[in-house]
Amino acid sequence: MLLGVIADDMTGATDVALMLNRTGMRTVQVIGVPPAGWALPEADAVVVALKSRTTPVAEAVADSLAACDALLAAGASQILFKYCSTFDSTAQGNIGPVADALMQRLGTDFAIVCPAFPANGRSIYQGYLFVGSVPLHESSMKDHPLTPMRDSNLMRLMGAQAKGVVGLVDYATVLAGPGAVKAGFAALQAKGMRYAVTDALTNEDLMTLGHAVSEHVLLTGGSGIAMGLPQNFRRAGLLPERAAPERLKPPHGRAGILSGSCSAATREQIRAALAAGYPARKIDPMELARGELNAVALADWALSQPADAPFLLYSSDDPAEVSAVQEKLGREKAGAVVEEAFAEIARRLVDAGVTRLLVAGGETSGAVVLGLGIRTLEIGPEIDPGVPWTRVIDGPELVVALKSGNFGAPDFFVKAWDLLR
Ligand code: ADP
Repeated sequence: MLLGVIADDMTGATDVALMLNRTGMRTVQVIGVPPAGWALPEADAVVVALKSRTTPVAEAVADSLAACDALLAAGASQILFKYCSTFDSTAQGNIGPVADALMQRLGTDFAIVCPAFPANGRSIYQGYLFVGSVPLHESSMKDHPLTPMRDSNLMRLMGAQAKGVVGLVDYATVLAGPGAVKAGFAALQAKGMRYAVTDALTNEDLMTLGHAVSEHVLLTGGSGIAMGLPQNFRRAGLLPERAAPERLKPPHGRAGILSGSCSAATREQIRAALAAGYPARKIDPMELARGELNAVALADWALSQPADAPFLLYSSDDPAEVSAVQEKLGREKAGAVVEEAFAEIARRLVDAGVTRLLVAGGETSGAVVLGLGIRTLEIGPEIDPGVPWTRVIDGPELVVALKSGNFGAPDFFVKAWDLLR
């Protein structure tokens, strides 16, 4: 392994895995802290997906260190601590304390802070983070329920959470190229600074920065900073020229869709699947809660459908219906009833020879992955931005795509299968 990534949430992990995959690094995603002594799979890059963005600081630090140890043991020569491109955190953390702890573990005293992701409108100028055309603190992130961002100055934001002083490598320096950026780092280090916020407005800037950090053992930032890293390994002769995978050969078997996402995008995708004539069955959470319907019956229904088209099992509904169910069952119970059903359905389907599964919904995907005991996924071709097909490495013979609610074009459920050949 060349590069180890510690991501502070699941979708962020997929994001950075796709970024690396696109540039020809064979990338594997590991879900959760790898157990001690557990051998990580062979790949150019391994991304460990944690849930450490908003957990208590001590837990986030412990999980991140455990992930770091596993990545080092598997041979990683560089560690990227990946957080959100809107720097989602509070004055207590968790970005600063995790970065400090990783710094100590890796025996270094300097790292960059670069959440920039120009393709998604996240840019940094004079150390201020912009979301589209407005500073972070004027974006909708100011009202985030868990991590409201009320400042846009990354030196101040990081300085409040991390040990030591945070400096800036400004845009003029980045424009002057990797040599100038390295000199900028050296100047900050000479002043005793531990972190450098790096300006970046374009992908080209990220390539320059990527080049400049080739010898840093620790990097911190968003998915964008990963863009310029593969070239370093290529330059060093460690990574062959390789294109991103365009197809994934699935194991022989049946295909199906499980959807617990009620987002507008998913509901449109369901309409397209119905229009395409896929055998479909809607799940009523009230019937599940009353015990009139269960996972056994639903899995049996799916398996009795003709195998020439993917089946679709969905609980997805419009907001009024969802509210009505939540009022009767309580929000948590409603979610849990449906998630538990999908987890059990997935187990039964896979046991019965389903080898291709599309799962819609972030929480729903989490429940299914847990239900199937999946820990490692090899990243395959990208169906739509942010959603790849993946192959399960350490579990059943299965390819799976996990789509969080709002992702994917309207024809997502119909076109995804074309990449499995
Ligand atoms: P998304 O990614 O779109 O937010 P999630 O799977 O994360 O989707 O969240 C959807 C939540 O809604 C899950 O907890 C799921 O169990 C629950 N749910 C699914 N269908 C219904 C329904 N018909 N009524 C109430 N809750 C539902």
